[in-house]
Amino acid sequence: MRRPIVAGNWKMHGSRVENARLIEALTAQFPAESAAQCVVCPPVVYLSDVGRLLRDTPIELGAQSVCAEAQGAYTGEVSAAMLKDVGCTFVIVGHSERRSLYGEDNVLVARKFAAVQSKSLIPIFCVGEQLAERESGQTNDVIARQLDAALELCGAGAFANAVVAYEPVWAIGTGRVATPDQAQEVHAFIRGRIAARDAKIAAEVRILYGGSVKAGNAAELFAMADVDGGLIGGASLKAEEFLAILAATRR
Ligand code: PEP
Repeated sequence: MRRPIVAGNWKMHGSRVENARLIEALTAQFPAESAAQCVVCPPVVYLSDVGRLLRDTPIELGAQSVCAEAQGAYTGEVSAAMLKDVGCTFVIVGHSERRSLYGEDNVLVARKFAAVQSKSLIPIFCVGEQLAERESGQTNDVIARQLDAALELCGAGAFANAVVAYEPVWAIGTGRVATPDQAQEVHAFIRGRIAARDAKIAAEVRILYGGSVKAGNAAELFAMADVDGGLIGGASLKAEEFLAILAATRR
């Protein structure tokens, strides 16, 4: 049985005051009986602060990105060891905004995946196709290349300690959510691709859907057989909305 997980990607939003307000609202209303795992990923500069606010709560801390290198002369970068040092347990790698705005290719994303795992942190490994790729029937090919880069560098065994997030680029921040069937089709493809190398690990790996998930559409997405929760952008900045999404996970 895969434990559902809901992760909030705050992107470049927030301030010390706003973050404290959001965490206070989340923890005050957090459902005691929640079976799902819950993670928030604030901007890197606030990780320590938010980590302190999350102490003794069921909510875990994640980072939005990481450097592929372990340490050294990489101005402006942050290593996996540093993220672990400030209390992170999860790290998003390969988010489409990192791929499209900062030129992160499949090889670099796979190296980041490896860097995160080298410190026993859990990568939330994002994959997803652009609209033009979907419309030209290339979705599976794109996802396969993204996945294979990590599978080849790290092996299927690495997915025993990883989460995959399917985020169609055309659905991120657009309000245009994938249908449950569209999501399920790609999630099943992802699980199958991993299963071709290791069926047991594939059956256990959690695959999240991300892209315009809201309280109003979460339950139908999370009801699909291979959808194990969500990676949530905009809606993770509103406590009530985020908690309603968490409550929509399978029990
Ligand atoms: C994201 O940034 O990972 C995301 C899914 O954003 P949104 O929920 O706002 O579409």
